[in-house]
Amino acid sequence: MGMTAPRIVVVGGGILGCTIAARLLEREPRVRLTLVDRDLVGAGASMYSAGVHFPVGRSERVRQLSAASADYYQTLRARHPQLPMHGFDFFVAAGAADADEVRARCAGLLPLSAEEQSRVAPDLPVGRELWRMPDCHVTDVQGLALWHAQRLRGRAEVLEGVGVEALDESADGVRLSLSSGRELAADAVVLAPGPWVNEGCWSGLTAGLGVRVKKVVALHLQRPAEEGAALFFPAEDAFLAPLPHRGHWLFSYTCQQWDVSPEQCRQAGVEAREIAEAREALRGVAPALAPLLSSGRVFCDAYSPSREPLAQYLGRHRRVLFVGACNGSGYRLAPGVAAEAVALLNHTLTKG
Ligand SMILES: Cc1cc2nc3c(=O)[nH]c(=O)nc-3n(C[C@H](O)[C@H](O)[C@H](O)COP(=O)(O)OP(=O)(O)OC[C@H]3O[C@@H](n4cnc5c(N)ncnc54)[C@H](O)[C@@H]3O)c2cc1C
Repeated sequence: MGMTAPRIVVVGGGILGCTIAARLLEREPRVRLTLVDRDLVGAGASMYSAGVHFPVGRSERVRQLSAASADYYQTLRARHPQLPMHGFDFFVAAGAADADEVRARCAGLLPLSAEEQSRVAPDLPVGRELWRMPDCHVTDVQGLALWHAQRLRGRAEVLEGVGVEALDESADGVRLSLSSGRELAADAVVLAPGPWVNEGCWSGLTAGLGVRVKKVVALHLQRPAEEGAALFFPAEDAFLAPLPHRGHWLFSYTCQQWDVSPEQCRQAGVEAREIAEAREALRGVAPALAPLLSSGRVFCDAYSPSREPLAQYLGRHRRVLFVGACNGSGYRLAPGVAAEAVALLNHTLTKG
């Protein structure tokens, strides 16, 4: 890096923006960094996240991002045991016919004997087998984003309650107009707007990405966190997992409501339709638990056409980097995606 440290603005203080900011400063401590969020840090999709981390990916790149993220989180937990991250036993439950596909999608699976299987999940529907997934944990994602922001404050500027209202890229840099009336000049901007991908002043730039926003629903089950087995059902793309930091369980199923807006989702909350869909899905895999579903969390996330996270430049001058569209997996892939973003910023970091 030359004499003047580059100025980088990260827009969006969700788990992704916060992790990018943290990794950027790890890579180049001299960078002049500002993190801007229109709301409080972690109050977007990250606040609603179930925060489950498990080693699954449909493509090689996603499996690599998941493995890189697992390493990062493992180191973070070892260095900071006070973080709201809890390891737990998580099992894949799939039909024998799907075994090959399951092994290809999930790294490091260990099969369970019939005896272990009946001890772990005695009520498993007939025809399903269990495999243990390695290195799974669950996190209070908003808590982790806030922790990152607290540490960033000593080394960077963190602006909350301040929206980015205009973005003007030129060959010399990027100018940002903030809702507070302030103007910022940056050498590069990282856009990590979560499900607001198509709504901000950047919508002209992001339109070509083909990213769509889908509702994500996870219902709560009031039973003690230490009771029962955590199960992932790949055929249904659903899972049952405990949230020890909140003292309940959660059932996540795949909701197919597309092109929703974050504000709509926030206002509507859990609707009868979602409870009915979730009960129906849970009846297929753990019927005894279905009646327990009556409340939960509803928000949305950004989905890319390829179902792989995006980290790519928009605009004409390689100064506006979009990072996001993590397809409902933004917590478990954030460190890996952040590393890709930092690598893409290398030319800005080395220019100075
Ligand atoms: C119910 C639910 C359960 C989930 N469960 C899991 C799970 O178990 N595991 C997993 O890996 N993932 C899960 N996800 C997905 C994961 O939560 C998201 O992918 C992740 O939180 C996205 O993080 P982000 O930082 O990209 O977005 P966000 O957290 O939404 O952050 C984007 C930020 O940008 C800010 N912003 C928007 N517009 C502006 C503007 N104009 N100016 C300034 N700031 C702006 C917003 O205020 C927001 O804080 C779940 C999601 C939901 C909704």
